[in-house]
Amino acid sequence: LAQLFRPLDLLGMVYRTIRQGALDMAAMFDLIDTPASVIDAPDAPALAVSAGHVRFEGVSFGYDAGRPILRDLELDVPAGSTLAVVGPSGAGKSTLARLLYRFYDLTGGRITVDGQDIAQVRQASLRAAIGIVPQDTVLFNDTIGYNIAYGREGAEMPEVEMAAKGAAISGFIERQPLGYATRVGERGLKLSGGEKQRVAIARTLLKNPPILILDEATSALDSRTEAEILDTLEAIERGRTTIVIAHRLSTVVHADQIVVLEAGRIVEKGTHGDLLRQGGVYAEMWNRQAQERAGDHDGALAAE
Ligand code: ATP
Repeated sequence: LAQLFRPLDLLGMVYRTIRQGALDMAAMFDLIDTPASVIDAPDAPALAVSAGHVRFEGVSFGYDAGRPILRDLELDVPAGSTLAVVGPSGAGKSTLARLLYRFYDLTGGRITVDGQDIAQVRQASLRAAIGIVPQDTVLFNDTIGYNIAYGREGAEMPEVEMAAKGAAISGFIERQPLGYATRVGERGLKLSGGEKQRVAIARTLLKNPPILILDEATSALDSRTEAEILDTLEAIERGRTTIVIAHRLSTVVHADQIVVLEAGRIVEKGTHGDLLRQGGVYAEMWNRQAQERAGDHDGALAAE
């Protein structure tokens, strides 16, 4: 196992947690150059997660003064449930996830986890409780085993293998001549978008966080890969409070709640069935995407 790890281990666990979070967030939101503006109060206690109930209470936020992005947002995500956030580009979907991770402080309202204001607890403890599966996973120029083990400090090889299995990537790894010691990245094996996402899922399984943010890939995966990824995602969502930033509506049908965000406000909220019956913005988006899917299908048939 030792060869899976490198001197990175010298970094303390807390720093590592923050760093991993920062890295995941950077991958998720293009934030590599964003300075951390958030500081802990000197005596801030650690977040104590009992169930993972997430609430946004009257949340307002803007990156620049005078340009509000989220306005008086109310969200209630009961422990273990899945909330999907949909809406046009620029509506504020990613911003909402960044705020839960406390990448920025709010201009109004508060966000709580199990009743604790996230601005009052230690950031490292908040970030340790949240797993992120970004659209585009950052892989290190190291072994695939290292890249998965990175999900949790001190993970043992059997756990890494279990996580790989849970993320449906163990078969792929075992088919490589060097197995888990296969190098990936610029100088090694190149992974497809779907395979990279599975590495992120395996990391998250190792981390085992009570709260999960999924940033669904916009990039087209072939339909078989997409179906397989969806199955694995469903497996990691089970028992965790999950916020899915959704780009394709086909993936939000089973969410316990869907919110439609437009220009930083919730314009519709409900289950897939509720929203279709309402015949509003969501129903329109659904019909449009259904037509596109039908169009793709016709295109595929015509090509055969
Ligand atoms: P998409 O679906 O395209 O990812 P989104 O709904 O996730 O969009 P956000 O990324 O949350 O939208 O962005 C909301 C608004 O905030 C946009 O107008 C965007 O330009 C602005 N914005 C995002 N990040 C920053 C930043 N770091 N500084 C200033 N403005 C930003």
